Amino acid sequence: MELRLVPTICPYCGCGCGLNLVCADGRVKGVEPWKRHPVNEGKLCPKGNFAHEFIHSPDRLTAPLIRKNGVLTRATWPEALKLVSERLAEIREKCGSESIGVLASARATNEENYLLQKFARAVLKTPHIDHCARLCHSSTVSGLAGAFGSGAMTGSIKDIEEAKCIFIIGSNTFEAHPLIARRILKARSKGAVVIVADPRFNMTARHADIYVPLRSGGDVALLNAMAHVIITEGLEDRRFIDARTRGFEELKQAVAECTPERAEAITGINASTIREIARIYATSGGSAILYSMGITQHSTGTDNVHAIANLAMLTGNVGKKGSGVNPLRGQNNVQGACDMGCLPDVFPGYRQITDQSRSEFAAAWKTAGEIPGQGLTVVEMFDAALGGKIKAMYVVGENPAVSDPDTGKVERALDGLEFLVVQDIFLTETAKYADVVLPAATFAERDGTFTNTERRVQLIRKAVEPPGEALPDWKIISMLATEMGAEGFEYGSPEQIFDELTTIVPQYRGINYPRLLRPEGVQWPCPGALHPGTPTLFTDGFNHPDGKGIFMPVQYRPPAEQPDAEYPFVLTTGRILFHYHTGSMTRRSPSLDGEVRSGFVEISSLDARRLGIRMDDMVRVTSRRGQIELAARVTDAIVKGTVFIPFHFAEAAANRLTNTALDPVSKMPELKVCAVKLEKVTGT
Ligand code: SF4
Repeated sequence: MELRLVPTICPYCGCGCGLNLVCADGRVKGVEPWKRHPVNEGKLCPKGNFAHEFIHSPDRLTAPLIRKNGVLTRATWPEALKLVSERLAEIREKCGSESIGVLASARATNEENYLLQKFARAVLKTPHIDHCARLCHSSTVSGLAGAFGSGAMTGSIKDIEEAKCIFIIGSNTFEAHPLIARRILKARSKGAVVIVADPRFNMTARHADIYVPLRSGGDVALLNAMAHVIITEGLEDRRFIDARTRGFEELKQAVAECTPERAEAITGINASTIREIARIYATSGGSAILYSMGITQHSTGTDNVHAIANLAMLTGNVGKKGSGVNPLRGQNNVQGACDMGCLPDVFPGYRQITDQSRSEFAAAWKTAGEIPGQGLTVVEMFDAALGGKIKAMYVVGENPAVSDPDTGKVERALDGLEFLVVQDIFLTETAKYADVVLPAATFAERDGTFTNTERRVQLIRKAVEPPGEALPDWKIISMLATEMGAEGFEYGSPEQIFDELTTIVPQYRGINYPRLLRPEGVQWPCPGALHPGTPTLFTDGFNHPDGKGIFMPVQYRPPAEQPDAEYPFVLTTGRILFHYHTGSMTRRSPSLDGEVRSGFVEISSLDARRLGIRMDDMVRVTSRRGQIELAARVTDAIVKGTVFIPFHFAEAAANRLTNTALDPVSKMPELKVCAVKLEKVTGT
């Protein structure tokens, strides 16, 4: 048996670790870490180590399916493409192009996402294109765009180990981004102080020097109080503020009343601890902030990100190694899907949607007629479907029936559509509602590029053939566009698509496939073929016209839904080490599934005792939107009054309970806070 090693990129989290697929006899037999890879340097977390196990799952979709007499039935590609093409054209004709919604995928490649938004805008003519970044880092995009002029991780993963202080807020890095956690451990071994603020004493908090038990939703109160301490004690970096920023006086005024004592009442954190961490952050000589969805998934997500950016600029902790504002992107290519313009409010390269840019894109894509303007976000699309305005959806590689807030509402919306096309590798909970299911290829069965959380563009390589008649997403989109009579979709390879998108996305302009053959890839922005890429952003200036960063003063606003007598607990949700997103891949990996087979609810031992709930008792958790039953995990590692449920498990979907209240700017739903009640299920 001849073994072949195919270097590629892990399909799970945004770390973007390099791995080799070990292939023989046309199958992927295992995974070997990529030793020369700059992110993981020969290490992988459990998900990466078993990244091959779902590829040959017997559940893979191997042929198109068409619903006939209520049953999804095997069909040929010509039949499926003809039906999709005719039905979408018919609905567009009858109800207008705005009656069609498209969801792109943070798991698909840059080439596929670029192509899908081009198909949506230039062929379907719909403005409604979005993807799950709406549910993870849309608040980062809007918040950092306001403060810095663009929204991405400002530093590099490797440089985290140069920090003297690492302030982690709203990120369980050790479970969600384990190979970034490795850099935190390295920094700590060199003397860095690690501060973790989170409602749970989670795996990350266990590695902290200072753990700050923050009540969910209290982020702005804590961050403003830290800014208050820094200013009142004269710890701000005056030289950086004067040379590099605007709006300091407004910030100073805004936080004047935000004392640690006031913050203590909101956050539950001792005022003296707030003072202590503010001093350490301001005076360490190089402080990095790491955050994730504990910051962004709030109806105040944009405010939370603004408050973080304020803190970094106040202390001069941007634009140098071992510092910065580092949003940790959740999925393997969520950064790339945003870069490619799979968002309803920007074009590729974050180009604002204006009459001029619409004309320019119409010319670039040689499309007949106009390119549409701004569209609806994910949550708004499902609301519009329930209201009868969206009639058809094309969902590529997303599973909103499990991942989106208030899944009962999502199910009703999917059920009520006139026509639903789902393109995926498995028959997901969403695909079960489809009229047509199109079988796609996994990361191991196609070429292309992913962009990781630190803006590193990297090649993924085809190692084996897709099963049966499954095809890469780019090929399917291309075939469908051609079936609909569109021109400009006749691509022979992903490289051709990449070469086109580099003429459209300025940040990628100097990148090409030959440059990506080396393990380092290229970090954008890379404006020219000779430019080396950019590991650290904003070393000289920010992305505003005058080069200055802008302080964005914000005030604490409570979450949209507060606990009350009827629903007395706060529910927060998140990931665990062994699973990923809606579990469609990790739950089909025997090694990962064997670690944690079902969902659970973490309850403080103080609350559990009062309710008579013991470890492993079945508990009914109810919110204003739905209820689920799952086993109790009684623990001292969560603040009293808060419960935690991982969102990976469809049969006890945490998102059946969560709230669709939106951040007014980013339209991020408040997935991290809602009010619930708990009851022990009798007989357990
Ligand atoms: Fe994959 Fe993320 Fe684990 Fe790296 S840290 S191996 S990218 S899941």
